[in-house]
Amino acid sequence: METPQDPSPIEHRLREGLSRLALVLRADDWNRARHVGLTPTQLAILEMLEARAGLTVKEIASHLGVSQPTVTDSIAALERKTAAVRRTGEADRRSTIVVATPAGIGMLQASRAIDGETGRAAGTLASDEQEALLVTLVRLITSLQEQQAIPIQRMCASCRYFAPFAHDDQAKPHHCRFVDAAFGQRELRIDCRDHDTADPASRAATWEAFQAG
Ligand code: SF4
Repeated sequence: METPQDPSPIEHRLREGLSRLALVLRADDWNRARHVGLTPTQLAILEMLEARAGLTVKEIASHLGVSQPTVTDSIAALERKTAAVRRTGEADRRSTIVVATPAGIGMLQASRAIDGETGRAAGTLASDEQEALLVTLVRLITSLQEQQAIPIQRMCASCRYFAPFAHDDQAKPHHCRFVDAAFGQRELRIDCRDHDTADPASRAATWEAFQAG
């Protein structure tokens, strides 16, 4: 029998904890999507398209970790709901890209009115606990990117505008060169619309500086 003196490895118990959170996150996603007449996959596609000039089906499938036929079906449904349209790509006229419509962005914004259980639970944490959790999530996501389990996300840690610990100010140690402003750990972005992926060498140097700070 498992006892507190002889628990399973901590990696196993962390995974158990994350899987419990994932269950609630899935339920939250369904509630948010249902609120605006979409499925979670359709809502996730609109989230990806927000503030982007358009993505191909292949890019969307890669980011979401689902098959291209699944994405194609969801885009057809989004088109029927006037939430997205397909267009010829501007950079590559042979490609077809998917773009969110103003109606689709409206649905996305309306869905954000539903806070969800995970958001409420995160709100019960103390401020320093929230900050520590955010930094831990950035580390976990970065590790998953390095293992190529997921594509590069639009986080500060991979952004060419990010200068970690550029300021001698505990409250606002980081600098965003895009808006030319200092910001704190609590403001680290997980999905920033102004993100621009740094080249691999700069990304590695930035990550080292972030870790060292
Ligand atoms: S542009 Fe966005 S992702 Fe990049 S450093 Fe600024 S806030 Fe972070």
